[in-house]
Amino acid sequence: MTLDDIKEVIKNNSTFVIFAHENPDGDAVGSCLAMYNVLKNLGKKVEVVMDEHPASFSYLQGEDKILQMPTYEIYDVAMVLDCPDLKRVREKYQVIFNQAKNKIEFDHHINNSMFADLCVVDQACPACSQLLASSFNYLGFEITKPVAECLLTGIITDTGGFRHDGTNSETFEFAAWCMTKGLNINKIYHESMMLMTKTKFEEEKLAMERMEFLADGKIAFTYITKEDDEKIGIEPGDHDGIVEIGRNIKGVEVSIFLYQKDDGMLKASLRSNDYVDVSEICILFGGGGHIKAAGTNLKMTFDEAKKALVNETIKHLK
Ligand code: 5GP
Ligand code: MN
Repeated sequence: MTLDDIKEVIKNNSTFVIFAHENPDGDAVGSCLAMYNVLKNLGKKVEVVMDEHPASFSYLQGEDKILQMPTYEIYDVAMVLDCPDLKRVREKYQVIFNQAKNKIEFDHHINNSMFADLCVVDQACPACSQLLASSFNYLGFEITKPVAECLLTGIITDTGGFRHDGTNSETFEFAAWCMTKGLNINKIYHESMMLMTKTKFEEEKLAMERMEFLADGKIAFTYITKEDDEKIGIEPGDHDGIVEIGRNIKGVEVSIFLYQKDDGMLKASLRSNDYVDVSEICILFGGGGHIKAAGTNLKMTFDEAKKALVNETIKHLK
């Protein structure tokens, strides 16, 4: 089994680097730091490398050790966690990943391209952190309290606070086990899900003001421009969750949110409530994700992107 091979690779090597996808979210940060802490506990030399990430996860052990550039050129083992395709990892990190002697990935997305030598992929798992929790148990790697905090943060954020479809009995069994370990679930839930920066609040306000309802109210659409971001002075993570606002409105089946990335591309986030597979829509535009939560990057103007996504979404509506 792949996990047995991974156990051997971990046992026989000493330098590790762990990467996340661009714009890392709670599951990406939680998964990477859980793995970091587990490998550290095994006495390994480990680095976690990712883009700027939301400050809201600073309570996690090892968060202050996260780097934006790896120290070395060649590592014994490189891992990518919570990412379906190497294209979603920054190019400068892809180079280091490809140069590593052993490449490992853990992921839970649809259409994972199986880009590593050893791939642990479970699409039915609601969070990469939950996949890691069961993998650590299988591997016999101790889930200490700090590791559990990282994993629970990933699980809470990727399940939208235990609300999304993929949430299953194992999710609650792990959360219950975390309680027996003495984790403060209320606090972790509040800090990872509810607490927001003032700038994020300003972004949400603007996105709400601008929200349009199309196709008889079945589509909610909103956007934020680079100028808005600059005026508000956003922090990493401030765009996360804005797309959920539209989804929570009665009658809406698909919520669409667009914003402009630093490289000029538009980032689209799509969410559905009941029957539309938004990953199908995003795949058409070169992206991906899950049935009810997906995204893509578009080289288009706001008007073009809105038109293209709305027209495609309408085809999926009943
Ligand atoms: P979000 O809209 O929160 O950025 O992402 C929702 C889901 O879609 C996540 O599972 C995320 O990994 C995936 N996703 C977002 N953007 C992209 C993209 O550009 N490509 C792919 N393959 N998946 C994406
Ligand atoms: Mn995830």
